[in-house]
Amino acid sequence: MTSSSPPIPPARSSTPRRRVLIVDDNTELGDTLRAVVASGIPGIAIETAESGAAALVKAKKGFDVAIVDVKLPDVSGIDLITPLRAVSPFSEVLLLTGFASVDAAIGALRSGAFAFVLKSFRPEELISIVEQALTKVELKHERDELERRYRDLVEVTDVLVVALTGPDEVALMNRKAASLAGTTSDQALGRSLLESWIPPEDHAAMRAALATTRAQGRTAEVETGFVEARGARAGEGARDEASSAHPPARAKRIRWHLSPSRESGDLVYGIGIDVTERRALEKRAADAEALSAMGELAMNLAHEIRNPLNAAVLQLHLLTRNLDRIEADDATRGALKDRTRIVGDEIGRLNRLLTEFLELARPRGIAREPVHLPRLADEVLDLEEESAKGRGVTIVRDLPEDGCVAIGDREKLKQVTINLVVNALEAMKQGGTLTVRVRPDHERVRMTVEDTGPGIASELLPNVFDPFFTTKEAGTGLGLSIVRKIVDQHGGDVEIESERGQGAKVLVSIPIGR
Ligand code: ADP
Repeated sequence: MTSSSPPIPPARSSTPRRRVLIVDDNTELGDTLRAVVASGIPGIAIETAESGAAALVKAKKGFDVAIVDVKLPDVSGIDLITPLRAVSPFSEVLLLTGFASVDAAIGALRSGAFAFVLKSFRPEELISIVEQALTKVELKHERDELERRYRDLVEVTDVLVVALTGPDEVALMNRKAASLAGTTSDQALGRSLLESWIPPEDHAAMRAALATTRAQGRTAEVETGFVEARGARAGEGARDEASSAHPPARAKRIRWHLSPSRESGDLVYGIGIDVTERRALEKRAADAEALSAMGELAMNLAHEIRNPLNAAVLQLHLLTRNLDRIEADDATRGALKDRTRIVGDEIGRLNRLLTEFLELARPRGIAREPVHLPRLADEVLDLEEESAKGRGVTIVRDLPEDGCVAIGDREKLKQVTINLVVNALEAMKQGGTLTVRVRPDHERVRMTVEDTGPGIASELLPNVFDPFFTTKEAGTGLGLSIVRKIVDQHGGDVEIESERGQGAKVLVSIPIGR
């Protein structure tokens, strides 16, 4: 072998002792059979029985091949085949008879016998048949063992394994795939893979790949989303405490390798690798690159814009004051005031954009000081209390006094909290509840900011951390980018769980970083 891969061990590493059971009420013939088999097949273990009942008792000790006389005192050898094979499922039975009729032979084979041997056999003939039967038994064991290993492999592997018949009907789904799909291997059977777990935008690509695999009999690669079935968990029972502890549906990205089955016409096997993390990392790297490409130039530009902007604010201020002094009727004056207010608001927005942009683009290190996160969250909520009241939002503070201190940059972590709280408040136009929770979690502190606003549509969810992505009229789209940058700088994680109409929940976790 030239390949360096380790050799695959045989299915059964050592051949166990082979066992033959001879069932014949004629002890003389029984002894002859024993002698013939023992001499022809060295090392074989032989048991004998003189009746059907005795044979079944002995069979329980285990046997591979039984040689059974058709005429036994208590039962016909033919009727003994099924119970014997029930005791030892991979065994084979040879029937011995004195009559050589075609009907008898056919009857014996139909009843599941391996072969039909005439009592006038030649020794080598019997030995050859017994050996063939033993080989068959051996092969069945091997096949069973291989199947078991294959099943184990499919079950424990970290890749997704599915088999599809019909257009896309699930004929097999391994544990990994089922767990991502929010179902079980059994419950997945017979369901449409596309309708249940592949998002609509990826249907065409998946169908095309399946068609290629089937029509051309070759493998195909395709990448699709893979979403937990809607209501899968709710359907399994009430949304109790335990089930609501599960995060809601989150789309995964799966790279599928589809291959046709060699045995069955339309069966297609799909091996899927979860590339969600890889794609997310690639996207973050691309975002970071885009930001740094904006680099110096954009930063200088931002600084330069600030000065004239400040001058404009000042002039506007004077202008507004002077408006009171000009001679005009109230209506005219009012209209002019409205205009200056709008200009003022727009300048304010530009200023905010600049501040946030500079925060994001500035390559500054972070401080390392102990930060008591519950207290920090408390302060931020105090600051936002008024704004919340104005919107009819109730604030729930779940902020334990003990623990939850992380080493990090206080000001920056405060910025994170402000951005998240402001987003949550802005989302709740009709009032609602804002819950801020801080908890220790192993070597991390976890902060969640949850609102009861309209939530985020699943198709927008992957974009909310993109710089300049906003759905708000006066938004900058930089708030969450800043959050992620700061959390990254702390070696932490941030993610959003949300479904349209179900509010949003942002989870930030920061390493304690002793
Ligand atoms: P901005 O707030 O300026 O739009 P962000 O980066 O903070 O920028 O947020 C980006 C977008 O993410 C928002 O425009 C909004 O669509 C969505 N978003 C963020 N937080 C929430 C929330 N709590 N509820 C609903 N949508 C949200």
